[in-house]
Amino acid sequence: MQMFSKMANRWAERLCEDEECRAFAAALTATDVRATAAHDSYLINLASPDPVLRARSLASFESELRRCEALGLEYLVSHPGNFMDDRASGIARNGEAIGIALERVPGRVVLLMEMTAGSGTAIGSSFEEMAALIEAVPAPHRDRVAVCVDTAHVFAAGYDLVDDYEGVWARFADTLGMHRLRLMHLNDSKTPLGSRRDRHELIAEGAIGERAFRRLMTDERLERIPKVIETPKLDDAETTDRRMLERLRSYVSSAP
Ligand SMILES: [Zn+2]
Repeated sequence: MQMFSKMANRWAERLCEDEECRAFAAALTATDVRATAAHDSYLINLASPDPVLRARSLASFESELRRCEALGLEYLVSHPGNFMDDRASGIARNGEAIGIALERVPGRVVLLMEMTAGSGTAIGSSFEEMAALIEAVPAPHRDRVAVCVDTAHVFAAGYDLVDDYEGVWARFADTLGMHRLRLMHLNDSKTPLGSRRDRHELIAEGAIGERAFRRLMTDERLERIPKVIETPKLDDAETTDRRMLERLRSYVSSAP
């Protein structure tokens, strides 16, 4: 399960109070959900060269971590920032800020940096750059940082899951190591390979297509990796989401 723990497009923060946390834990126990993640606010930019925006982002990011701890969530999924001025400086600022936040909010939550499509000055659209970002996090906190692969983002960033599926994972394994992969976002892409545009599509109805999702769902290296969808909701979110989950599960049950 992936959720937001506040309004993702507002700066306003919220605390998760004890009573709310207890109710959440009780409700969760009544489900089959075994992996839990929060996605952080879209406004956060820990790589910004603007000290005001960076400080505001850091405070907001810390609250995201605190809410994850309070709610007992395993993962916080976070988009790397936009470097704005200079790529290497942006990666350094981003890594340093992550280290500060993890220092201030000790606990068990693992931070998952999400691979990006690489539009504009977004950091994290190549495995090498993601490795550099993790390396930029000070050593004592680096073990609390891993990676979330979004299929639509990596495809838009130029990783060909359709015609070079094994090559993509070999590069991931060589550069980051499969142990860094802790969560996947399964989304098809409205935009073509290497477009650097982040537009999610229904599973098997976009540029990635059914064959690649069949491989992803039956790849034993990915068997234990939790997977969530962030696909379009059409006119009825619950019905559409259920249809997408059933479609993905059918790829496993119909596998040879
Ligand atoms: Zn995603």
